Amino acid sequence: MKQVDCEDVKRNVHEFLHSELHEDQLEVITAHIANCDSCEEHYDIEIVFNQVIQRSCDEAPAEELAERVMKRLREIQDHD
Ligand SMILES: [Zn+2]
Repeated sequence: MKQVDCEDVKRNVHEFLHSELHEDQLEVITAHIANCDSCEEHYDIEIVFNQVIQRSCDEAPAEELAERVMKRLREIQDHD
């Protein structure tokens, strides 16, 4: 999954919230939400991520993953 559109985000947001997505998918979807006005209205990326982290709070790797994706997200946003 290289590119996602808004429909893909809608389809995957449930898995996203349960952190069942592969790291690559998580990054692609996060990047889409960060760059898409329509999706940003529907999904607050900070809230989404807090939910992902909370659901996997007893798994340290998930938190590391969240940090990596958030870092990538900041890099993407810095380019705008
Ligand atoms: Zn979108």
